[in-house]
Amino acid sequence: MSEQTPASQVEHSEGAADSAAIARELTGDLPCARCGYNQRGLSILGACPECGLPVKATILALVDPQADELKRITHPRLVQAGLLLWTFCAFAACACVWVVRGARIASDVLGNTLDAGSVAGLALGLMVISGLAALVLVRPQRDMRVRDSVLPLLGVICYVPLIVASYLIMYHVDPGHPSVYGNPTSVPPERTGLRLVIGLSIIGAALLLRPNAVRLAQRSVLMRTGRMDRQPMSALAAAAAVAMAGDLIFYLMPYVASGLSDLVYIVAAALIAVGSLLLTVGLFSLTMDAWRIRRLIAAPGIGLTDIFDEKQ
Ligand SMILES: [Zn+2]
Repeated sequence: MSEQTPASQVEHSEGAADSAAIARELTGDLPCARCGYNQRGLSILGACPECGLPVKATILALVDPQADELKRITHPRLVQAGLLLWTFCAFAACACVWVVRGARIASDVLGNTLDAGSVAGLALGLMVISGLAALVLVRPQRDMRVRDSVLPLLGVICYVPLIVASYLIMYHVDPGHPSVYGNPTSVPPERTGLRLVIGLSIIGAALLLRPNAVRLAQRSVLMRTGRMDRQPMSALAAAAAVAMAGDLIFYLMPYVASGLSDLVYIVAAALIAVGSLLLTVGLFSLTMDAWRIRRLIAAPGIGLTDIFDEKQ
């Protein structure tokens, strides 16, 4: 109580001064919300000289009251490019893996060998770029606690087992087992083991990179006010977990009664297929989110201190 009283007194005694000051000029740049004409120097009670839109309407439309506290991105252009590369390369790598798998299934069905080696190499390259680009999430803003940088750094490190296991599957395990699909007995345990490593790496990367990604996404008023309330990175981790459930069942296949093995195989394969599909959709959705907020990262919203002098 004792702390609140002086503050409210100040508020009341300055009420009259505030209403006088409300007619003051904009001292900073503010583009008209309709035509883009700079309203600098106009009274906030005035209207845009070009299109007639009241200055108040532009302020309501463009000024973000929280913009000032959101302004601490260290290297906005770098973070913007990093976010776009990180998400797009992850999605593109995923798409390349589908092409590699598709070529293998086609080879199995058609009997000839489609060489998708260059696409596999592309997938690995995209994973490396995505991992390096994710480094912008380690310390995107100033004034961050050490802990907030350590977790995303561990998330980036999760890319290492992910890339190594993907490389081993595509270049060492699969070439030695031409027919991995459609045959319950032909799934080599080392392939399942490597897939579990990939699943854990994806879950680790998604959950550890998530907090700083959410911090950046909150620069969007839409995200903050819940009108764009989605959890794309938790969904990625969940998708990887669904696929891992299928891989775990593959691991247990030798212990399944032979009469049930066909059914269990179908369940496991379906879990892997659904998990992989959800992962692809999730990565696409994440890429779209990064694209949507790209401008907010490079050029933060207009705050009140941008259009008025800080002094009252
Ligand atoms: Zn205008």
